[in-house]
Amino acid sequence: MLMIKRLMTQYVPGMLTCKDVDSFLYDFHEGQLSIAENLKFKLHLSMCRECKTYVQGYKNAIRISKEGVKTAEPIEKVPEELVQIILKSRIKK
Ligand SMILES: [Zn+2]
Repeated sequence: MLMIKRLMTQYVPGMLTCKDVDSFLYDFHEGQLSIAENLKFKLHLSMCRECKTYVQGYKNAIRISKEGVKTAEPIEKVPEELVQIILKSRIKK
């Protein structure tokens, strides 16, 4: 897969590189890309796991910053029981 990605980004005309994805990311999220750019961006994401993860992380960061502390709540809502189980299993090792 990595080989394919390298070949695609090097030899397919107009194919975005990972660096391009990084620079396009803001405009992509803001909906500022042209249809062609948008397609190229999505095509790269469909082949490139690193960038896909990166974009998802970016989207999450934006969402959290917009929604504020509320989105952090589920992490704090881990059942006390589960925490104890995890802690105990650590001690056993
Ligand atoms: Zn990439």
